[in-house]
Amino acid sequence: MSKDKAEHKANRIQAKALAQKSVTSLAGVGPQMALKLAKVHVHTAQDVLFHLPHRYEDRTTVTDLGALRPNLSTVVIAQIDLAQVVFGRRRSLLVCISDGTGSLAIRLFYFNRSQEKSFQRGLWVKCFGEVRLGAKGYEMIHPEYRVSQSEPEGGLDTTLTPVYPTTEGVSQALWRKITDQALQNELPKLQELVDSDCLPNEMQGVYQSSSLQHAIHALHRPSVGVDLNNMQQATSSAHQRLILEELIAHHFSLRKSRDARAHELAPVLEKDPIKAQSFLHNLGFTLTGAQRRVCAEVESDLSRSSPTMRLIQGDVGSGKTVVAAFAMLQAACSGVQCVLMAPTELLADQHYITLGKWFGELGIDVGWLASKTPAKQKRETLERLAAGDLLVAVGTHALIQDAVNYKHLGLVVIDEQHRFGVEQRLALRSKTPAGQVPHQLVMTATPIPRTLAMTFYADLEVSSIDELPPGRKLVETVVMPAQSKRAEVIQRVKAACTAGRQVYWVCPLIDESEALEAQAATLTEQELKDTLTGLRVGLVHGRLKPKEKEGVMKDFRNGDIDLLVATTVIEVGVDVPNASLMIIENAERMGLAQLHQLRGRVGRGSEQSFCILLYQMPLSQHAKLRLKILRETNDGFVIAQKDLEIRGAGELLGTRQTGSITFKVADLIRDQHLLPFIDESATKLAAKTPQLIEPLIDRWIGSKEEYVNA
Ligand code: ADP
Ligand code: MG
Repeated sequence: MSKDKAEHKANRIQAKALAQKSVTSLAGVGPQMALKLAKVHVHTAQDVLFHLPHRYEDRTTVTDLGALRPNLSTVVIAQIDLAQVVFGRRRSLLVCISDGTGSLAIRLFYFNRSQEKSFQRGLWVKCFGEVRLGAKGYEMIHPEYRVSQSEPEGGLDTTLTPVYPTTEGVSQALWRKITDQALQNELPKLQELVDSDCLPNEMQGVYQSSSLQHAIHALHRPSVGVDLNNMQQATSSAHQRLILEELIAHHFSLRKSRDARAHELAPVLEKDPIKAQSFLHNLGFTLTGAQRRVCAEVESDLSRSSPTMRLIQGDVGSGKTVVAAFAMLQAACSGVQCVLMAPTELLADQHYITLGKWFGELGIDVGWLASKTPAKQKRETLERLAAGDLLVAVGTHALIQDAVNYKHLGLVVIDEQHRFGVEQRLALRSKTPAGQVPHQLVMTATPIPRTLAMTFYADLEVSSIDELPPGRKLVETVVMPAQSKRAEVIQRVKAACTAGRQVYWVCPLIDESEALEAQAATLTEQELKDTLTGLRVGLVHGRLKPKEKEGVMKDFRNGDIDLLVATTVIEVGVDVPNASLMIIENAERMGLAQLHQLRGRVGRGSEQSFCILLYQMPLSQHAKLRLKILRETNDGFVIAQKDLEIRGAGELLGTRQTGSITFKVADLIRDQHLLPFIDESATKLAAKTPQLIEPLIDRWIGSKEEYVNA
């Protein structure tokens, strides 16, 4: 064995040991906590190291109240002028503070007596939060705060504070505690698995300027004086190196599934011409040319014994659901099971209603499965799926969880796949009888740029529904300042509802907790209810129970609600043709793709529809450009292209991913300059260090990846 080889072997063995050490080996992580961490795919100590912050907060300086700007997250120190409970639209505790340069209001909606009493006039508060422009000037809603007798001194951080992606019940403090331990005890054991000789010349510098251990450390614990912007833009060599490695790991996992698929068999699905005929007949509309073409492509895919993996891209409203249903009919008519999986319960519920109607008319039952389906109904559905007498099911990712067994799953349709990770796509493979894999169709309204497709969708066929159903009027989009036009907009809402139309009012808070988003929507609902007496106003947000959500959506669909106030939970797929007006607040803070998706909720009927984008000052250059693009075009493909250009120009819009895959550091759009190197590097690595591929995939994609082999 050459020295090189011996070293690679040692690396692999070390890597394996690290990858197998359970997260419960860390202090503070018991079995309960381990379950929570598993929700964000953290199972091992190594996963903790690779659970990287998705943003950073700057708590290194105090900002004078006179120098505050909206949307800025910062530390302020000031004295309390006044604290009182106010009974506005909603009871809240209002604390006014000032520091001689300016003033600020702190607002708490959830508070207890002792909190109320702690805010005494003349005492000092130090708080950290995001500044918003409220009705009476700047405010912070639920900031982190501490009250003290005298002016607090010191206590500022010397480095940027990492903020970790998290899940219910896992605090940032816990993340910091366990990453501290992992950095101290496990990081020194972390092995290099990518031989930099295999990377193209252009990339070697980046790679060698920062070791893996150093890079991981730099992201978890930025050094003193590191610039917040650089960290957010991921331009440091530590970032670049990790991004490159992550992209290579994902590319490997994709190659692996492609190789595996080449030897796989899928059930041959035969169309039943009579059933297909009556299905089309019952629709009440004729398929567009594009829909017919894609249906035919899919039909021929499914009639072959090699597994289909096809991406169906079509702009919002182009009618992808009916194509999915047509394919599912082919499966059901062949006596094989099929599922339609949606990214949200709301959307799954809507598909359930649509498919229930279409299939019901043909005497085919449709099942429903989401994480919060009532136990009894769930048990029944699970039994029928296992027995094989339920052929069609609709739901969320609950459909692919371990407890779900299928008699013979032959087709999986994944809707709006940019919300699904590759691992979920792969998990499905374990649901079929031995020796077979299901056909897969993936539907998306976000078209995928070419370089990206070549690297990350190399294993997909692509169909495009490039035509909208006839009679659609383009949504007319207007952009208005929220401050001065709100009253006018409210009058338009009233006029639309009085004319029998329905309206969405969307209140997004990007990058905020679901709780805050729900809260903003709740406040708006109250306000609109108070002003628009006589209108039936509904509210839907992520914090509602599934039953409540369903109830509200049902009422809206049936026309029993005129105005629906919502968070971005309605972003994807919701289809209520009578809704013809959409208001979107804080549009300046949202990405193009997301705004386009939201806007796609109107313009689904024959009525002329409108979308009003409300913005708060100040508007950045990029925000201005985004709003202008939306005003000028309705074409999703053009918007996706522009999105790429703007983001390519260096602005990072939040942490949302545009690709289908969830990455830890990479962003396929932002990091597209690295894509051309990936394939070549992977080929060289596969030749030189084939034994390091597995541990590399394992490190970046984690244990979910095992499904590739299932
Ligand atoms: P998306 O591609 O955004 O998922 P949907 O499948 O939700 O679009 O379809 C949008 C709306 O258009 C639905 O109400 C659907 O019934 C309707 N629709 C789909 N195809 C046609 C068609 N060929 N003619 C008329 N209406 C159609
Ligand atoms: Mg859809």
